Amino acid sequence: MEKEVLQSYKKAGLIAAKARDYCCSLVKEGESLLEVTKKTEEKILSMGGDFAFPPQISLNNIAAHFYPAHDDNTVFKEGDVAKVDVGVHIGGFVGDTARTVVLSNNQKLKLLQEASKKALESAIRTVKPGVTLSEIGKNIQEEITKRGFAPIKNLTGHGLGQWQIHTSPSVPNFDTGSQTELTENQVIAIEPFASTGEGKIFESSNPELFSLSGQRPVRSPLTREVLRTIEEYNDLPFAKRWLIEKHGLGKTSFALRELDKLGVLEKHPPLPDGGEGIVSQAEHTVIIKDKPIFTTRLDDE
Ligand code: MN
Ligand code: MN
Repeated sequence: MEKEVLQSYKKAGLIAAKARDYCCSLVKEGESLLEVTKKTEEKILSMGGDFAFPPQISLNNIAAHFYPAHDDNTVFKEGDVAKVDVGVHIGGFVGDTARTVVLSNNQKLKLLQEASKKALESAIRTVKPGVTLSEIGKNIQEEITKRGFAPIKNLTGHGLGQWQIHTSPSVPNFDTGSQTELTENQVIAIEPFASTGEGKIFESSNPELFSLSGQRPVRSPLTREVLRTIEEYNDLPFAKRWLIEKHGLGKTSFALRELDKLGVLEKHPPLPDGGEGIVSQAEHTVIIKDKPIFTTRLDDE
């Protein structure tokens, strides 16, 4: 791996980690989810980072991909389990990291939080070139099931590449039996999810997150104007709210409808647990080496 590339990964990871912890510190009873999201975005930009994807705070039975609409009025409340997931890039090189905040002293919820955290720790103790995906998945599964929860099987960790937030390999949260081995200099995100429910998510509706999946000739000048903003995201996911702030609600909704009709708009709706289970998550980005580099882990972790 070139020195410059490594430096970019490290910088992206450090900013993502700091933004993650900053966001977690703001998640408190009575605070607005939308305001906390905005502050987290400002923090990332102030540290010189760009968004690999919009920072997400998914509550309770929503495992991932919740992002507040421009007029969202969610306020954190006692008992909430919040998954804070932050992605930062420097020149397209990504740091992806997540942590769970539990606004409760409920023992079962604390144990749920511990389950994904310990699963991640167990997984990262084993990673190095030659380790199989099966082995990583097995370690994650064990830590979660021994605490009485279910790993979410249809959410996985993933490889990262320049301008790519989901590339191979898929890093499973259970023992798939995969004998695929990790290789030197691979960059992967490991992200165990623990659920009090069935451990299977589905795609819900009303997405606020989107990405562009191809180039199509767009005739409408109005849509083209919005498209120019979207193209600045380099095919990485973006939030509808970002477009609304620049182009207004009417124009943004019109353009997104047009792009959807052209088949170039990928939607990323919230992902709730199928059995209404409460979900926790923990995630780090790792560069695979004999001595792996955990780019999103701060010294005090
Ligand atoms: Mn993530
Ligand atoms: Mn990820």
